[in-house]
Amino acid sequence: NSKPSFAGRTILSSSISKSFTEEIVKNLETITKSVKPNGKKPYLVGFLANKDPAAESYASWTQKTCEEMGFEYSLIKVPNKDFLEEKIIEANNDDDIDGIMIYFPVFGDAQDQYLKQVIKIEKDVEGLNHTYYQNMYHNVRYLDEAKELKSILPCTPLAIIKILEYLKVYNSLLPLGNRLYGKKAIIINRSEIVGRPLAALMANDGCTVYSVDVNNIQKFTRGEGLKFSKHQVEDLGANTPELLKQLSLESDIVITGVPVQSYKFPTENIKEGAVCINFSFYKNFSDDVKTKASLYVPSTGKVTICMLLRNMVRLIENNYHKKAG
Ligand code: NAD
Repeated sequence: NSKPSFAGRTILSSSISKSFTEEIVKNLETITKSVKPNGKKPYLVGFLANKDPAAESYASWTQKTCEEMGFEYSLIKVPNKDFLEEKIIEANNDDDIDGIMIYFPVFGDAQDQYLKQVIKIEKDVEGLNHTYYQNMYHNVRYLDEAKELKSILPCTPLAIIKILEYLKVYNSLLPLGNRLYGKKAIIINRSEIVGRPLAALMANDGCTVYSVDVNNIQKFTRGEGLKFSKHQVEDLGANTPELLKQLSLESDIVITGVPVQSYKFPTENIKEGAVCINFSFYKNFSDDVKTKASLYVPSTGKVTICMLLRNMVRLIENNYHKKAG
């Protein structure tokens, strides 16, 4: 009948994002002096061609954050989605625009994959271009041999990596690139936009990742003793409650992104003291999550916006180096 004497802590994404704001603003001041001497603020444009209220709210947060941090932002609504491609091409050719993003889903099918590639790589703040994705999956961190131009990472997976660093799950005593060595994580989502890239990034950093989708479970690792330079993937079988429970109870990190209101990750499956992070728009953990979790991050959106702006600064720096070199 004894009550647990310790309850985990909730860490809000607003407190985490504050720790990155300062770094971004400082870098922004440096680049606006040298790279944008005309004094113009870096300009981000977001295209909205759907009626998703979540996208509208994400757009208004982006606007607010941009204004607070010294960026210019415009939301361009495209009521007829068949004109979106032309609008993106116009923005690609407009020298005043530094960054472009699209609120997905637009068509909700393979056409959305095409639209991602229409954005010019030099303006792709979300890091969705094929080159950036391929670099990420292959653990390639630079765009050039001289290692001056950093590759851009997709911003939601990057935000979750930064959250794990903030929570000190990344062990800074280990060498860069291996800082999740010895850790196990389970990720409930394997979408191409978040879950799969996130599993790859964490595994590339040395973590053993169980990647769960609605059908099956896969394991992402760099092999025994981190013998591979990039992650390998192994199928573990169907997503059954038994296998899910077994792997969850081994995991030091539980990350959820199930886009369903009724879905709740079973609290009894959480290893005592695990770190739990939810990036879904819906609450994927039950109210009693902190009876098991040591740290609980209920949402990640604000950190994602910070990463969007961090990517934007990096794009401007890369473009400056390209022109100079
Ligand atoms: P998606 O529909 O493309 O993918 C959902 C994934 O969850 C799939 O891999 C699917 O197989 C898996 N899944 C669904 N039900 C499951 C179940 N019961 N068990 C195991 N796996 C299950 O969605 P998405 O684009 O990845 O978005 C997911 C959620 O994350 C949405 O709520 C979205 O709003 C949110 N999101 C948040 C951010 C952010 O910055 N916080 C960014 C992008 C998306």
